[in-house]
Amino acid sequence: MTVEEPAGHLVPAPDYTPDEVLVAGEWRRGNGAPVETVDPATGRTLAVLAGADAADVGEAARRAAVAAADPAWRELPAHRRARLLHRIAELIEDGADRLCALQTADTGKCRAETLALVHSAAGTFRYTAAVLETAEDAVTPARGDYVTLSVHEPIGVIGAITPWNSPIASDAQKVAPALAAGNAVLLKPAEWTPLVALALGRIVHHALTEAGLPAGLLSVLPGPGRVTGDAIVRHPAVGKVTFTGGTRTGRGIARLAADKVMPVSLELGGKSPTIVCEDADTEQALAGVLFGIFSSSGQSCIAGSRLFVARSRYDAFVGELVDRARKLRVGPGTDPDTQVAPLVHHAHRDHVAGYVDLARSEGARVRCGGAPPEGERYRDGAYYLPTVLDGLPHSARACQEEIFGPVLVALPFDDEDDLVAQANDTVYGLACGLWTRSAATAWRLARRIDAGTVWINTYKQFSSSTPFGGMKDSGLGREKGRDGIRAYQRQKSLYWGTAATPLPWAGS
Ligand code: NAD
Repeated sequence: MTVEEPAGHLVPAPDYTPDEVLVAGEWRRGNGAPVETVDPATGRTLAVLAGADAADVGEAARRAAVAAADPAWRELPAHRRARLLHRIAELIEDGADRLCALQTADTGKCRAETLALVHSAAGTFRYTAAVLETAEDAVTPARGDYVTLSVHEPIGVIGAITPWNSPIASDAQKVAPALAAGNAVLLKPAEWTPLVALALGRIVHHALTEAGLPAGLLSVLPGPGRVTGDAIVRHPAVGKVTFTGGTRTGRGIARLAADKVMPVSLELGGKSPTIVCEDADTEQALAGVLFGIFSSSGQSCIAGSRLFVARSRYDAFVGELVDRARKLRVGPGTDPDTQVAPLVHHAHRDHVAGYVDLARSEGARVRCGGAPPEGERYRDGAYYLPTVLDGLPHSARACQEEIFGPVLVALPFDDEDDLVAQANDTVYGLACGLWTRSAATAWRLARRIDAGTVWINTYKQFSSSTPFGGMKDSGLGREKGRDGIRAYQRQKSLYWGTAATPLPWAGS
């Protein structure tokens, strides 16, 4: 592989073809099945690389355990680990344009979005560094002749398994706190989008080497989930798995983790409600609902994919929404005018199309979209038009299952109780957006809806300092926030005797 060095251009140009994976600090060809990544705007193959197999994972895990236990890392003071995180952030920012281009090629996403994701990844490293430097252990109140301390220690080796929809942000959200907490990390990106994780691997590897720290602290191991991901979860040296992906996969990982009595964090799927109350500001609500479902082409765990509108406003609001959805600009992620880019892969586009066909067979009215766009520009890409469905009962599969594409289901509601009953009638509980001018309504609804995050008069806004995670089948645990690092540590209690005389049994 040709990579332009040094720092500032650690990230390869978008036309590079990686043929190596990162096994505990060593770049080499994997022993596993080929991993092919395709530009979904053109169908062109970007790279085919030999992925990591179970033996590669085994070696990475063993060497990661050694690196994690190395006193050069284990005893590194927090402010020095924080410096490493700041350096990684700086290298990400230096390579922002290339990382952004790489992610647009790999995922199809719009440049504006991938640039935001890249800066969000750098911000995650910086925020985590700040938390790390200011995190305190506790002197707990003693109830005898001793001083009691509660301290946090690294777990050792963390398996971090990520999906394809926002790779650099998901990767950073796991790698930054796991390293900050003093661990080594095995990062397994999704099969369809390995390029950004490998580029991040290059950056972290460079920063570790430059700081004289064990290079084995990070591995980047692309490969099929059932092989590479499974080997990470099962490996005895791996002390925790942090997973973002589908609920079915997460449930399987949790089962394996139970056998090892291993902690897991699970960021899973969603079917999030967006709610337009009777008194909502129309413009704000329209913009929020459109952005909530059609940005990222709906390929977002927090996509607002079920729209509930107060019955008195339903016809007018949905009519206007449909008009605006028709006008959204569909095109390649490289075109600055594009609002709705192709889906990540042709196979995923077909999956989304299958759901719309299913909805039709369930009696849905397709108010707009419901097909790939026509024309030469779209011929080779994995495009699908922004789609609004209605006329379905809430029990329909299109209302209950995560479609993960630009497909919105609209439903009316009669009153607050009817709304809450419908909105909570799902196995998921990830996010919710609601539009109202009444603070009292916002407060009541925000507390009654099952969701880890509720946006009021806005949608899909994020902050590193605000915890994120799901309820119900949407997951377990929280990422981000001051406690984000704690998810990668074990707590230990110390009792330090201060009595002048021995314990009563000393003489027996
Ligand atoms: P997925 O579950 O198919 O795959 C996610 C990752 O798990 C990939 O790296 C995959 O290779 C790996 N994997 C698959 N089978 C595995 C196994 N048996 N053992 C270990 N690893 C395995 O999900 P996806 O299709 O890549 O991503 C889309 C899903 O991710 C959606 O459901 C979406 O809602 C969810 N998601 C959730 C969040 C969140 O924060 N809650 C964020 C983004 C995406």
